Amino acid sequence: MCFSLLRDLEFDHMRRPTSLVLCFFLSGCATGPQWLPRVQHEQPPYAIYGSVVSDNGAKDGWVVVHRGVIVSVGSSESTIPKHARKYKYSGYIFPGLIDTHNHPQYNAIPRWRAAKKYKNRYEWIVDPIYRQNVEAVFAKLKEHHVEYAALKYGEVRALIGGTTSIQGTYAPPESNGLVRNISPTYEADAYTLDVRGLSDEKVQKIRSDLTTGQLKRYFLHVAEGVDTKSSEEFNVLQSKGLLRSGIVLIHGIALTREQFRLMRRVGAYLVWSPQSNLSLYGKTTDVVAAKEEGLTISLAPDWTITGTDNMLEELKVAEKYSKERLHSKVTARDLFRMATINAAKVAGLDQFLGRVAPRFGADFFLAPRLDPDPFKSLLKTNSRDVHMVFVDGVPLYGDEGEVEKFVDSNSIDRINVQGRQKVVVTVADPRLAPRSQEHFRDIVQLLQKSIVMVAPLSEDQ
Ligand SMILES: [Zn+2]
Repeated sequence: MCFSLLRDLEFDHMRRPTSLVLCFFLSGCATGPQWLPRVQHEQPPYAIYGSVVSDNGAKDGWVVVHRGVIVSVGSSESTIPKHARKYKYSGYIFPGLIDTHNHPQYNAIPRWRAAKKYKNRYEWIVDPIYRQNVEAVFAKLKEHHVEYAALKYGEVRALIGGTTSIQGTYAPPESNGLVRNISPTYEADAYTLDVRGLSDEKVQKIRSDLTTGQLKRYFLHVAEGVDTKSSEEFNVLQSKGLLRSGIVLIHGIALTREQFRLMRRVGAYLVWSPQSNLSLYGKTTDVVAAKEEGLTISLAPDWTITGTDNMLEELKVAEKYSKERLHSKVTARDLFRMATINAAKVAGLDQFLGRVAPRFGADFFLAPRLDPDPFKSLLKTNSRDVHMVFVDGVPLYGDEGEVEKFVDSNSIDRINVQGRQKVVVTVADPRLAPRSQEHFRDIVQLLQKSIVMVAPLSEDQ
């Protein structure tokens, strides 16, 4: 069943996109924001058969995709457009995982596990051992002007774990291109330093942008630690008038049930990163209290340095933590939601991402049926198992011989993931990423020239 729908089209720079407006009116595409899809694809529609996973479970059916957007879900074969190509898969079709907090430009640097626990983020950031193992290496990447290659490498590490969007990328926009980078393009922004240092001018700008709708979400590291210096950050946020709708608190380890209640009341959100929290502080956020207070919580790896490789690995950590420490009060379904629907809400993108549904972006991944329960199956899935990951309707990672059915075989690179041969496509469309024309092998070479050791794609297994 070999077919080539995106081949020769997807990576053909000379073919200019028709106007977005024309697409929506002439082709019947759903109307959406200007970034959906990021690039106009001129290929005919295609249909993938599989067990489509939603919040309610899994249901077999066809998913029809046209020009980077999902047109229909659950259609019977007879309703698929006649000229659509068909691809049958025996496993699950999951929504692409949305990583609501990461620092992917650091993720080419090998993992660092501290020998001790800290009280707050300001302690380890100045620890000479951390500086030597992480910041000095990052400085080398900058010095050699290959930060963008490191970012791309970080994106690949996320992509192989089913991730199709990442928040936290603040490298030059021209280097973005593989997964969606939840940046100002997506009406989201962030501040990663100490909230106490936010100037009045900056605070005013954030508040007015949230009020006018120029921004939908603003992400801040808050209460990342176990001491009063960490917990005070919540009060600082409140005193600056930033405890409000659209604000996303990353970590919140030191927060109390009352504070979660207040967050829910004002329309703020929470990002949970258990592995990074546990390795740095020996403690993580009281997610059961946050859940009981009705707060929308998403799950994210933070970064590979103190966290996990990607969303699939973070899900495993969260599941284990819930079983061992929370009497399984955070269920497999909760975790699925935290990585998809909830994550889309936290990012302010739930109208277009986080579900395999009509009018949504064609961001999804195919993975084998490792358990009859799709949510439990997701928790058992490793990067090596992932059959294919689609962003904007284009497969960028997956099994050798399958991805090539969709994209030009010159675009692929063979990679070894957890002992299995896979392929990845890093030659992004130049309209998306003018500087992202390197193959994966070129990226690795660039990095190897700059730093002594490049982190393996997968460090968790
Ligand atoms: Zn962070």
